[in-house]
Amino acid sequence: MKLGDLEFWLLTDGTFRLDGGAMFGVIPKPMWEKVAPADARNRILMAMNSLLIRAAGKWILIETGAGDKWDSKRSDIYAFEGAPRLLDKLVTHGVPPEKIDIVINTHLHFDHCGWNTRMVNGEAVPIFQNARYVVQRAELEHAKSPTDRDRASYFPENFAPMEKSGQWSLLDKDAEIVPGLEMIRVPGHNADMMCVRLTGGGKTVFFTADLVPTAAHVPLPWIMGYDLYPLTTLENKRKWISQAVREEWLVIFGHEARTPAGYLRERQGKYELEPVMIDV
Ligand SMILES: [Zn+2]
Repeated sequence: MKLGDLEFWLLTDGTFRLDGGAMFGVIPKPMWEKVAPADARNRILMAMNSLLIRAAGKWILIETGAGDKWDSKRSDIYAFEGAPRLLDKLVTHGVPPEKIDIVINTHLHFDHCGWNTRMVNGEAVPIFQNARYVVQRAELEHAKSPTDRDRASYFPENFAPMEKSGQWSLLDKDAEIVPGLEMIRVPGHNADMMCVRLTGGGKTVFFTADLVPTAAHVPLPWIMGYDLYPLTTLENKRKWISQAVREEWLVIFGHEARTPAGYLRERQGKYELEPVMIDV
């Protein structure tokens, strides 16, 4: 899809599953299971969506999925599925990892930065050898010393190797990475997660990351139990969703498998998604 001089593709690293109750916080199961059916282990299906961007002569990858550094126990818990995975899709697009100039992680939970690295001879090393990697400085600090509540979301092998290789390029606030690509810090899910705004040719695209992880999370109180600051999520959903509605932004959800993109509309005081089919 083209936005003026900026071009982007929606890619996915396949799907995984998380507990439905944790994904919908205070929303009772009889409500959420109508829109997100649970499997026999109470898990719902989620995608891991990425954006590949061509802009300012650079190849930029936002989000790197879950990667392949998984033991059998965790593979079973999270049920990763859906070949081809992200790296194969990059190759199919003619953009193998060595061609990527900038890798951006909205935050460092395992399902957003897994392909940052891979194991070589028992050691995790950066996959994107010629890239600088971008994240909020405070998120990297938090990832290195998480709380007991969110420790299970952070795996040092996804972010420590770029400290060793000197590839981190750390942000201290919102940033325009190249013209038309803004990274915006949106707290709530955690303290320093970022959303992405692409603009060009009179159009705007908003990638929600975990602010609105799936289409089922569009209603304001439908907020993940994982969120560290749910009331901040609520305020930021109100702010960004209402602007997306007013200005007709194309919204792309971080984890939506079935209808990853669309326009948000307000009908009788409620927000709804009008899905748009784009190639994945
Ligand atoms: Zn997350």
